[in-house]
Amino acid sequence: MQALTNRLKPVDRRKMNFLERLYLVAIFKGMLITFSHIFKKKPTINYPEKTRPFSPVFRGLHILNRDEEGRENCTACGLCAVACPAEAITMEAAERQPGEENLYREEKYAAKYEINMLRCIFCGLCEEACPKDAIYMSETFAPADYQRKQFIYKKEELLIPHPLKETAAYEKALGNRAKKKVN
Ligand code: SF4
Ligand code: SF4
Repeated sequence: MQALTNRLKPVDRRKMNFLERLYLVAIFKGMLITFSHIFKKKPTINYPEKTRPFSPVFRGLHILNRDEEGRENCTACGLCAVACPAEAITMEAAERQPGEENLYREEKYAAKYEINMLRCIFCGLCEEACPKDAIYMSETFAPADYQRKQFIYKKEELLIPHPLKETAAYEKALGNRAKKKVN
């Protein structure tokens, strides 16, 4: 038989001697391996209490961005939906009304904006296509759920907290982007 690797080891079929039949040496060897690992650095962490640092290019859950005054950046141009290879994004545009200047940055805004996370492949093309810095991918995982409809994220779930009213939550949602802003 032709071997695929050079690690082929024929099975030892000779009769075991008295010591081998006691298995004490084998047990001792096994215990030695176990004890040697006690003093080694653990490869695992106590998730979720502890988390590993994210890669700078990690692409997690989407966030719909606001500007420094808390106005929604999205102008419902649809470029993200066109760029999305999974057709996961749907939206409905609306005209900004007088008096809503503090809510929406542009004259047109997304009255409805949804991402189907079951379709999303987290490619990041929506983020790249957006000319308004209105959508970006955060360092948050998409949470698990039991119902398919819970994976259709609505605008209210995607929108970043208000920077002036919920500053701490806003900074947390910014994640790596907050550090980039400082640098
Ligand atoms: S990350 Fe990719 S697949 Fe997901 S919504 Fe954005 S463009 Fe579509
Ligand atoms: S998120 Fe960006 S690309 Fe998508 S509709 Fe809004 S402004 Fe346009």
